[in-house]
Parts: sequence; C-alpha cells; structure tokens
Amino acid sequence: MRDPRFDILFEPVQIGPRVARNRFFQVPQCSGMGYRDVSSHAEMRATKAEGGWAVVCTEQAEIHHSSEITPFIEQRIWDDIDVPALALTAERVHDHGSLAAIELCYNGMNGSNFFSRVAPMGPVNLPVAAFTNDPVQARAMTIDDIADLRRWHRRAVRRSIDAGFDLIYVYAGHALGGIHHFLSPRYNHRTDHYGGGLENRSRLLREMLEDSVEEANGEAAIGCRISVDELLGDGGIQREDVAEIISMYGDVPDLWDFVLGSWEADSVTSRFGPEAGQESYVRGLKDLTSKPVVGVGRFTSPETMLRMVREGVLDFIGAARPSIADPFLPKKIEEGRMEDIRECIGCNICVSGDFTMSPVRCTQNPSMGEEWRRGWHPEYLRAKHADQRVLVVGAGPAGLEAAQSLGKRGYEVVVTEATRNLGGRVALEARLPGLAAWIRVLDYRVEQIDQLDNVEIYRESEITAEEALGYGFDHVAVATGSTWRNDGVGRWHTSPMPVHGDMAVFTPDDLMAGLRPEGRRIVLFDDDHYYMGGVLAELLVTEGFEVHLVTPSPLVSSWTVNTLEIDRIQTRIRELGITQHLSTTVDSVAADHVVGSDMYTHDTRPIECDAAVLVTGRLPNEQLAVDLRARSDEWADNGLFSVTAVADALAPSTIAAAVWDGRRFAEDLGETRSVDDSPFKREVVHIVHSKARQFAPTEGT
Ligand code: ADP
Ligand code: SF4
Repeated sequence: MRDPRFDILFEPVQIGPRVARNRFFQVPQCSGMGYRDVSSHAEMRATKAEGGWAVVCTEQAEIHHSSEITPFIEQRIWDDIDVPALALTAERVHDHGSLAAIELCYNGMNGSNFFSRVAPMGPVNLPVAAFTNDPVQARAMTIDDIADLRRWHRRAVRRSIDAGFDLIYVYAGHALGGIHHFLSPRYNHRTDHYGGGLENRSRLLREMLEDSVEEANGEAAIGCRISVDELLGDGGIQREDVAEIISMYGDVPDLWDFVLGSWEADSVTSRFGPEAGQESYVRGLKDLTSKPVVGVGRFTSPETMLRMVREGVLDFIGAARPSIADPFLPKKIEEGRMEDIRECIGCNICVSGDFTMSPVRCTQNPSMGEEWRRGWHPEYLRAKHADQRVLVVGAGPAGLEAAQSLGKRGYEVVVTEATRNLGGRVALEARLPGLAAWIRVLDYRVEQIDQLDNVEIYRESEITAEEALGYGFDHVAVATGSTWRNDGVGRWHTSPMPVHGDMAVFTPDDLMAGLRPEGRRIVLFDDDHYYMGGVLAELLVTEGFEVHLVTPSPLVSSWTVNTLEIDRIQTRIRELGITQHLSTTVDSVAADHVVGSDMYTHDTRPIECDAAVLVTGRLPNEQLAVDLRARSDEWADNGLFSVTAVADALAPSTIAAAVWDGRRFAEDLGETRSVDDSPFKREVVHIVHSKARQFAPTEGT
C-alpha cells in the first residue's frame, strides 16, 4: 500500500461544476492522430483514464476552418459533423471515471491554412509564425473579425458540451493559441482597444473567457491555458503581465493551466532541462486566484509531485509526457508500486509523432498509439499461446522489452547477453553528455524482469548458432543490435568512401567504448542527422579536442526539429566553440586531412585533422540470424519453430523503435496472421461524394 504521505495527491478537487477524483491531470497533448485516427485517439485517452488520470484532455481542437494547421493532424470542431468523433473520446474517458477536457484553439497567425486556403488572421499584418516559414501572411483582424471569432469560439464551446466534455479550454499559450498573439507585445501593435497596454492586449482573452463561461452556463467547466512568460524580456509576455491578468480576472475561468513560452520552451528534453523546470515561473501565481491551477514539468518523481502540492505551487500535477510514458502512473502511486513506474526519459520522440503527422510513439511505452489499432495495453498482455520457451539473444532495449513482455505473457524466457552489462546501446548512450535519464529504459525493464520467475538473464554469454540450436528453445529472438560503419556509408555515400589507411578513424561505437585519438584535431562527419553527431562533438570538445563538425545538412542534428531540440543544439554547438562546416560533405579521408565538399557548388577544401569520426550509417548485427537460417533443416530436430531478427539487428533505428519492435515480437508470438494482411486496424473516411452536378456546363464549352 502507498505511504500515507502521498494521500494528498488523491484528494478530489473541484473544477467549476465538476469534481476531479484526484490531482493527476493529463494536460492538452498532441497525438498525431487527431481527426484522422478517431478510435485510436479515443482509446489512447481512455487508457490514461483507466490508469488513474482524473482529467484527460485532447490535443488542440481547431474551432474554425479559417485557422487550421495542415499538415499537422490535430482535432477539429469546425462543424457539427466533427462532434461524434470527439464524443467518442469523451465517452471512453468517462467510462473510466475521469473528466474529459478539450482544448479549443484558434491558431490565428500560427497556421498557414493550406487546407482551407483562406487568409489567416492575427492582431496585425505579419508573416505567419509557422516554423516552416510558409510564404503566407496573416491579415490584421477587423473589429468585425474579432466579433466573428468570439461567436465561433462560443459555438465551439456549445459543440464541446454536446460532445460530452466536462472541461473546455480557452487556449492562450505557446504562441499556438491565437489569443497569445493578442497578449504579446511582440505580435500585437494594434492601436484600437485590443492593442497597447496590458488591459487592451488581454481584452480578447477576457471576452473569450466570459463568453465561454456564459455559454457553458454551468454545464461544463472553463479553463484557461496561458504562457506565463514568453522568455523575450519586455519584448514579449512577462510573468508580471500574467500575474496582473490573474489579478484582474483570475476568477473568471474555473481553472488556470500555466505553460512556459513556446512549445519548445515548455517541453524541454532532459538533455537541456531538469524535472520541474517551470517552477520558478509558476510559483506564486496560484495565490492570485481562488481557482485551481495546473502546471507541467516532466514530473515523474512522486516526491516532486508531493512538493508541488504541499508548497502550494500547483493544485494539479499536470503531465503530457509522463502520462505517455506511463498511462498508469497515478494508479502505481496510489497502490504504492513506485518501482513499477515507467519514467519518461525526456527524449521527445513523442513530439516527433506530431511533427511527422504520425501516431504518437514513445521510447518508454511501446503501446502508446497502439491501444486500439493493435490492441496493446501498457500494463497487460494476453496469456501465452502455448507452453513454449524463448531464447532472447542480446539485452539491449529490444531484447529486454521482448523478455519482459514475453515473461508477462507467461513464456519461459532466457536472455543471453555477450557482455557483463545489460542495456546495450542505452547503457552506453546514457553516459553521453545530457543523456543520463535515458538509463531509465534499462532500469524499468530490469525491475520488471526481476519480478518475473520465468525470465532468466545470463551475462557474458555470447551465443553462437550452434548453441542456440542445441538448447532446445521453441523460438529465438535475435536482438543483437547494430554496429556503426567505419567506411562512411550512409545517406550521402551509398558505397564506401576513400579512406587513407594512415588516418585514425573512429565510429560512435569506438568512442562509447572509451577509445580516443592521439592527436587533438578531429573532423566529425555527421551524416546521421539525429542526436549522435552533435552529442559526440559536445563530448569531444569538453574533453579538450578541437572539433570540426562537417554535415551535409544546413543545421547540426537537423532531425531534432522533430524533438523541439534543434535551436538549443545550434546554441550549444556555437557556445562550445565547435567549428561547423554546414551543407558540406566529406568526399574522402586522406592521411592528414579530410576533403570537404560544398553540397551545392561541389567546391572542395582540405580540413586538416589527426582523426576522423564517422557518424553515418549502421549495419545490423545479423550474423546469428543468418547462421541459424542457413541451418533451418536442423530446426525440427532441435524443436525450434522460429528465428526472428528484432529491432536494430533487423534494421537499425531509434531506441524507441527498438523497444517497440521488442514488444511487437512478444505480442506477435503465436500469431498466425499472414504477412499479406495489415497487422493493425485503421479507419477510412466515410465517402459523401455526390455525382449530381452543381452547375450545368456553359453552352459551347
Ligand atoms: P537493440 O537496440 O536492438 O536492443 P543493442 O545494440 O542496444 O540493440 O543491444 C544489443 C545487445 O546484444 C548488446 O548488449 C550486445 O552486447 C548483445 N549481443 C550482440 N551479439 C550477441 C550474441 N551473439 N550473444 C549475446 N549477446 C549479443
Ligand atoms: Fe517521455 Fe520520450 Fe516517451 Fe516522450 S517519447 S513520453 S519524452 S520517454
């Protein structure tokens, strides 16, 4: 049972006309599923309600076609036809006794309206603030436009109530909710009574809050999500502005939800910011209102949560990422099962789902986004299909996830690991600068396996095909990982590049194994574009090496635009004095220099160095699987049914993908589905096309 100290987290809290059963609050969170994957979305939210989150919110719901953020997949509540899909989410959240919340949003000048094609609107004439620098300008809203917006928002409140939501947000945060642009001196240069001083700049927010409260009329609660500081000094919204707003009309909404700056500033990765990073901004604001307040901070520690409530910083423990990594986090605290908490590692792979318009995925929780379409659950797995024994070779994230999932299904599992250490790449990468929290991928799985009598781990046990065949297992999962290439093959070079034998060449594996060059000058060629190149450059420069980072991309670690890290990485690379050779590839490696080549002019120049670090492609460690397959005629005699290469040993990818593939192997064991068929459910649109012409062709045409 839980320590009574945590009882306070399970007190009910009133939000306007509704009561939340505890203090755990899943704040608005993008899912990459939105209006497209309706049942997937509903079931994902329902799973969080089942896991004990007392309030479960949607992602942003666009209220009108004149403000939409295509290509991103969010919710839409433009028309009545949008209501049933949203109602399904509310209903499924209610099924588990939680309150359903919806974040209404008018993006204004943050959306380019590529779907609706109408001109976006904002407080003034300015290019849209979309991060893709779309060639679209927002037009300044007239007083009539503002009246229209208020009416549209009010109508969306009504539709939200019709859909069954208990809490309805007015969104003025992250520079995503268009009201933010009115609040901010950065965007609002109006000279009418919606611009100028704070009272004027916050007039629209006040009106929309009052409209919403009036429209809801006690049928639902109204919440306000607001950025407490835009982090732009007096050029933007400052904390004292928000304090003044709350002092002026803090009791109008039923709840305040505090965020910090833009989404990038709010959802900081563990590489760049700690748990509870917003505390200093949010502390004290609760005292200005009689209404409950919620805030976030990548809270995974029950002690930190307790402190937030005890010290009067927050009424609700807000979470997006911790609720993705562990939808059952509240239940585990409630039941005193702290050791079972699957802590968010702060990698923002979940955010990349939204940025790539694909269903949210999570490094720690492979069932995220698979609840409906594959029927995966974060806590429960269906029982084994037969009394069988499985050998899992390799104790990296894939092997450990496969083992714990197979163990929970009831199979007899043996994990063999070649080295003394568990965790594979996770154990190594967690020692790189800023990535320490990633070790939680290992910690959670080892803790789970420790609780299972039917899973055994053998360290320092490198397995050969001969051994794998001889031990009499029914199935073998080859989770032996991958190896970074030392021949430069990757995106740019699709066959080995010339490398002089006198140059010291290192791969990420070499560096993580502790090897270092003798000389001080290093060229690091990053053709991988995710974190590895930038992190290794950081590691080497802090050890005193002189680092030249060469990358074909115009930005270092360019894929991290999808994890909200890209700006911080550029700042860090510059601050550390790493010399950048952007939009440049390495043509070849000579004895004492590499030949850099401009991506566009193809002009070459030597970059002198003592060593080259190649962060390009990887090769799967597939030999064991290949050897076993070559001996498939011996399987039957040895009782072996299947050999499966899993995760990086099949095709190298992210840690998130490795964990997911480990789970997929465990889930699919015993499945008889044909590879010709889709392995998951999906929804297709209901076709409403009519063949009737709307107008007759003009005569003669
Ligand atoms: P993944 O991300 O797919 O889990 P990792 O590279 O993180 O891959 O982990 C693979 C693990 O497999 C490493 O810990 C490695 O030491 C181990 N390994 C590789 N080959 C063998 C083998 N033949 N027998 C046992 N363990 C192996
Ligand atoms: Fe946390 Fe990473 Fe999972 Fe997102 S993907 S919830 S940041 S562990």
